[in-house]
Amino acid sequence: MSPSGIAEHAVEVLSARERQRFLDHHPNSVALAARARQALFGGVPMHWMSDWSTPVPLFVERAQGARFFDVDGHDYVDFCLGDTGSMFGHSPAPVAAALREQAGNGLTSMLPGEDAVVCGELLAARFGLPFWQVATTATDANRFVLRWARAITGRKVILVFDGCYHGTVDEAMVRARDGHTVHRPGLIGQARNLTQHSRVVPFNDLAALEAALAPGDVAAVLCEPALTNIGMVLPEPGFMARLRELTRQAGTLLIIDETHTISTGPGGCTRAWNLEPDFLTLGKPIAGGVPCAVYGCSAAMAQAMQLARQHASELSHGHGHSGMGTTLSANALAMHCMRANLEQVMTPGAYEHMLWLAARLAEGFRTLIARHDLAWSVTELGARCEFQFCSTPPRNGAEAEAAFHDSLQMALHLYLINRGILITPFHNMTLCCPDTSAGDVDRLLAALDAALTELLAIPG
Ligand code: PMP
Repeated sequence: MSPSGIAEHAVEVLSARERQRFLDHHPNSVALAARARQALFGGVPMHWMSDWSTPVPLFVERAQGARFFDVDGHDYVDFCLGDTGSMFGHSPAPVAAALREQAGNGLTSMLPGEDAVVCGELLAARFGLPFWQVATTATDANRFVLRWARAITGRKVILVFDGCYHGTVDEAMVRARDGHTVHRPGLIGQARNLTQHSRVVPFNDLAALEAALAPGDVAAVLCEPALTNIGMVLPEPGFMARLRELTRQAGTLLIIDETHTISTGPGGCTRAWNLEPDFLTLGKPIAGGVPCAVYGCSAAMAQAMQLARQHASELSHGHGHSGMGTTLSANALAMHCMRANLEQVMTPGAYEHMLWLAARLAEGFRTLIARHDLAWSVTELGARCEFQFCSTPPRNGAEAEAAFHDSLQMALHLYLINRGILITPFHNMTLCCPDTSAGDVDRLLAALDAALTELLAIPG
């Protein structure tokens, strides 16, 4: 029996039923999948789009607010929301209007406009960090900040927490195994030895953190305030405050990646928990789903960055390259959309609704788990909520991973998709957006209730 308490045989029976049901009810997705295999590698535009629970990819026709519609005419309540890219709903009206406004006024020129200035001012007021830069993805924002951190400190090592994900950032593609840093399994085409300049410790382990910082060679700790990519793992009381103290003592910079934890509130965990980072990174929903990311820094960092630029420029006689950039970053379209999103969408009122509904959902999950006598737990972080197949919430990445039951998770997700509900793939995470209703939450709970009832009735 797995840690979930569910027998594999029952999962297999449910999964086979649901796979057939999907194929029967999605002829247009099936046909598009066959066509796609002739033109797209693996039949999808991005290879991991074939890793969802459905037997063929679910092809989307359009999306609006908390809903999307597939090519077979089914509608879905979306609790995945593009894994946070659409955390404020699909095509929020002010962002759609901003897209229309900018459409005929130039999309990219490699020059700033007033929108950029307004975005900087709004971000500074929101997060309390005075200076900002713009990138196109959260991955890029993290990569650029790591460069700055190394330039500022003159150190090479980056420390991350086991089970983290910060985008396709090489330095974070490491895991902890028996107290050692190793490459994350599954990396394709990896040439460099990542363990040379990366160090990884378990989340919530202050002794390991202190030991890892002790040599004095760590440029920065790159972390989410709660792990969100290996199932959710919340920081224990005092952990983040001690992390800040220890990094300061060690001369190590603290980079807080708020890309997912912006679910907590308008200023993310940085504001809610007063984290005082040296750098903050944030991508995905910052421009309402239009590709865009930002990073902010303290005044001291901005000063150090200026010195680093001068130094690099002197060494290169003005003909060098910072190693940071990408031509379309901070383009006019993205800046106009980010402005609309910050001003009109990511508002305290929107969060109030999202947090209220997520709390209702978490309570509903707990009630269901108890009613079906399952030893599972529920973790909440603002608008984000997750059920995990373990009796107590995990304390670190290894514990979260030990609670995985992949076949069960896939079967439940597919069951929900077949009833018009999408939750975040690869674990059991849900997001509530400003357009999600109490009825939507209750629909998810009723479908999950039905799934568990059916699953537990299958003879072992
Ligand atoms: N940081 C965190 C915390 C993330 O979860 C992700 C993506 N899941 C990223 C960064 C990278 O975002 P992107 O793929 O948009 O670059």
